[in-house]
Amino acid sequence: MKFEDLEIWFVTGAQLLYGGDAVIAVDAHSASIVEGLNRSGKLPLTVVYKGTVNSSSEVEETFKKANNEKHCAGVITWMHTFSPAKMWIKGLQNYHKPLLHLHTQFNREIPWSEIDMDFMNLNQSAHGDREFGHIVSRMRRNRKVVVGHWTDEKVQDRIAVWMRVCAAWADAQDMILVRFGDNMNQVAVTDGDRLEAEMHLGYHVDYYGVGEIAKIQKTVSEADIDALVEEYERMYIFADNCKKGAKNYGQVRNAARIEIALRRFLKEKGAKAFTTNFDALHDLDQLPGLACQRLMAEGYGFGAEGDWKTAALMRTMWVMAQGLPGGTSFLEDYTYHFNGERSAILQAHMLEVSPEITTQKPRLEVHPLGIGGKADPARLVFTAHAGKGIAATIVDMGNRFRMIVNKVDVIEPEAALPKLPVASALWIPQPNLETGATAWILAGGTHHTSFSYALTNEFMEDYADIAGIELVTIDENTTIPNFKFELKVNEVFYK
Ligand code: MN
Repeated sequence: MKFEDLEIWFVTGAQLLYGGDAVIAVDAHSASIVEGLNRSGKLPLTVVYKGTVNSSSEVEETFKKANNEKHCAGVITWMHTFSPAKMWIKGLQNYHKPLLHLHTQFNREIPWSEIDMDFMNLNQSAHGDREFGHIVSRMRRNRKVVVGHWTDEKVQDRIAVWMRVCAAWADAQDMILVRFGDNMNQVAVTDGDRLEAEMHLGYHVDYYGVGEIAKIQKTVSEADIDALVEEYERMYIFADNCKKGAKNYGQVRNAARIEIALRRFLKEKGAKAFTTNFDALHDLDQLPGLACQRLMAEGYGFGAEGDWKTAALMRTMWVMAQGLPGGTSFLEDYTYHFNGERSAILQAHMLEVSPEITTQKPRLEVHPLGIGGKADPARLVFTAHAGKGIAATIVDMGNRFRMIVNKVDVIEPEAALPKLPVASALWIPQPNLETGATAWILAGGTHHTSFSYALTNEFMEDYADIAGIELVTIDENTTIPNFKFELKVNEVFYK
């Protein structure tokens, strides 16, 4: 797990006004909270208690260390007592990582018969956290505010979501994305400003000719191909004409050769995501469908047709979802099924859908592909299982990035699709196809998405806040008049 390298710091704001005993109590209570959070079993990252801060210089020093410490993916702050918030200004000005304000208090309940002024002065998070919140808002600093007792599962779950997003954010800050070929055929929505992406989202997009893969594939040994095809045989159901000795077995071996070459190249470059372009395959004998499917399931972000924004987002969502049930995949809106309130969108791609989103054992098949002018490519064929998920995209609006997230319900197809030998998912966008698709189109959303069963809107909200990008969400509460109004307001906000 990626998360093992990362930790979250916990910093308690205090002041020396209440004397030495109070300082000792604040420190002990903070340590108990951190220990309790770590013991909850709910949090994917370890919380490390970094002590109390009582002055501007202490805050500044702590935040500078948090910036510089590679393993620190974010800071949680909490005010046990009243803590004058001017002391946070310098530190926050210098701090560039995610921030979570945990608005909790050490005791769960008021000790009715015992409470006195000393107790009140020591346990006044309700007071101190408001003072802290003011300065963070005054500084226009995005953060997640989580309210509730630290032992509550709901509180721990919300911290866990944010931690996963912090880990994905850290992952994106040194992400190299390899783009084989350019953008396909004058497509607009997949294009965008890669410099702005690096400045605002962290990842770096590099161009390579697909000839790099063609070069490596010549060096792949037959023994390596044997081993990989054996792995295919263990994991998938082979179509009869793909089995050893049958007509398409050679195509399966060529697909394995491409997969080995592609993985080798990505490893060599330290890349975490990549794009392909079916229009520019040169010396590859077939579209790398199977390779893309399998690399996605390993955690590589993928976007077809040069779609680097979706590739990076898919990697980020895959990292967030690590270890959670469900799966994450690149998908594309293909064809509608109009059926009243059950109207749905068939999601697929030419070939490239991750097997993470099915509970079936995928079938390995080889079929002709109408476009691209290459040999018949191998692919995994399956149907995504029913369940709730989110589909997300990031588009470049010229002056900013906009993230669009739609809650979707994946449903079982009404019948088998025997003549469509690709992986697919069928979903109903919330609140329904008519409103969901209207809102998506008004927002300028892509036909490509990054989809996940494991994530919810809360993950994407935390991500957009950390990145400081626009977020519009389409869900059960969306109405078109309100959505249009939101888009108009956002135009002004981001002017
Ligand atoms: Mn496409």
